[in-house]
Amino acid sequence: MSAIDNLPPLRDVIAEHGLSARKSLGQNFLLDLNLTAKIARQAGDLRECDVLEIGPGPGGLTRGLLSEGARKVLAIEKDTRCMPVLEQISAAYPGQLEVINGDALEINPLAHLTPPIRIAANLPYNVGTELLVRWLTPKEWPPFWQSLTLMFQREVAERIVAQPGSKAYGRLAILAQWRADAKIVMHLPPGAFTPPPKVSSAVVHLAALPEPKFEADASTLSHVVAKAFNQRRKMLRAALKGTAPDLEDRLLAAGIQPTERAEQVSLEQFCALAREIKKA
Ligand code: SAM
Repeated sequence: MSAIDNLPPLRDVIAEHGLSARKSLGQNFLLDLNLTAKIARQAGDLRECDVLEIGPGPGGLTRGLLSEGARKVLAIEKDTRCMPVLEQISAAYPGQLEVINGDALEINPLAHLTPPIRIAANLPYNVGTELLVRWLTPKEWPPFWQSLTLMFQREVAERIVAQPGSKAYGRLAILAQWRADAKIVMHLPPGAFTPPPKVSSAVVHLAALPEPKFEADASTLSHVVAKAFNQRRKMLRAALKGTAPDLEDRLLAAGIQPTERAEQVSLEQFCALAREIKKA
């Protein structure tokens, strides 16, 4: 598929429609269509998929997703000023782009999508993390999505893929890696965006696994991990106090020394601990 469409360059689109970036909406736009096509390619083979895009803005990534052959793109954008521009893209790809003007945190997109579904977005940091946590903790697994391809501040991306023993390792790493394969697939300097943000960014790709890597009850695991990392400098026998009557035995049964700290405990061990505590 080629990244070329018959639409005007994004810089012209932005100038023509007066789309000055708004800080309140976390607007840092990607205007290089070669780059947005490259990001779209990280989302996998889109030809048989519906793609949910959150925060299309002037549509750089949207154009990338469509030029890479997405069966359909559903784009949810909060900024009403972007609607005429997105309608132009919709006209260039008849029947393939549906746009909803609204807040992605409040809209249920499922009625508008047909599986298989992939999600792709370049979102403001706070909205992105909140949506990621929601997508990773659905009521049932497997989730409605096959993969997530998301731009984050580099520091957040590193927390998602972090391994034990590092400062970045915490609740987000466990949540992301328990039921998905997560990897950083691209790094972007501030200058890739207009206007440039203060920090570097990275694209993370998460592929949903049909089953969790290790058996555990989702809410017990989430509770234990939140508690363990809430006081990450404390030994687990202190940080997890009150979680189970015979906590030290449960820790040992899970292969964890009660004197260890959360940062040293692997995903497999946290799952074993969640199973032990559930038994209690
Ligand atoms: N995807 C475009 C790009 O890559 O150039 C724009 C990216 S910009 C970082 C984030 C976009 O998300 C903006 O267009 C902003 O208006 C939109 N946005 C912010 N909060 C949102 C929300 N809660 N729901 C939907 N869109 C939102």
